[in-house]
Amino acid sequence: MHYSLLDYFIVSPSLVNECKAVSVLNDGDNPSDHLAVSCRVNVATGLAEPSGMYPNALKNIKLNWNDADLSAYANTVTELLTRVNIPTDALLCHGSCTVDHTARLESYYGDIKWCLHTAASRSVPSIKMGVQKHWWSPQLNELKQQCIDATDLWKSVGRPRSGEVNSNRIRCKLKYKNAIKEAAVNADNAFNDSLYEKLCTKNNSAFWKAWRKRFCSHNQKPANIVNGTLGMIMFDMNSVNIFHLLLHRTLTVIAFNYVW
Ligand SMILES: [Zn+2]
Repeated sequence: MHYSLLDYFIVSPSLVNECKAVSVLNDGDNPSDHLAVSCRVNVATGLAEPSGMYPNALKNIKLNWNDADLSAYANTVTELLTRVNIPTDALLCHGSCTVDHTARLESYYGDIKWCLHTAASRSVPSIKMGVQKHWWSPQLNELKQQCIDATDLWKSVGRPRSGEVNSNRIRCKLKYKNAIKEAAVNADNAFNDSLYEKLCTKNNSAFWKAWRKRFCSHNQKPANIVNGTLGMIMFDMNSVNIFHLLLHRTLTVIAFNYVW
């Protein structure tokens, strides 16, 4: 039995000779046909991406403002802002000079962002995003374990491409994958139903609470398509907000003649 592997890593020329190890990550709990590959390179500190304006730890977390120590946050922001170098020339410029103030204004903006993020990381509790799947169940854990066991057994007998051991591995994998999909879809449907119900009963505060919990915590960008089953277009016309909610792939237009 022969099969080949073909993978490329594209790296800067300066890193080519720094590659220390390349490996295929073959974990039993990866139900995909595709295996993750990793390559380890040594990067001189000078070449590393600057830590930037955001403390790195803030990238994948959700800040829980309800439990925040707001006065500590305000005090930290105030304290940090006093250290920011204000670009007075740029701010007072009426455009008649020949200096390009862009870079200075960008760094001023970055400094302010840094103050806000740093203060938040010190006084606002946070939870990691993308880690918890609220719909995950013990049944899924069980299927996952079956999948891992079947994959391990398959590996131990030399990864055959046919035969019962291989068929069993594929069956377990499909069962696990389908169960994950189904659980996610069910969770979406349940969410859509409850959102729809809140709209129908004009329970505005509950609607927005659910809405924000679902869509505003992950990232700050408005989403046009969310996981393929729920689409949202929101716009404002003469203070009349119109929502198009695509529920269960059926377009339902709900118009409100008052401002939310
Ligand atoms: Zn100027």
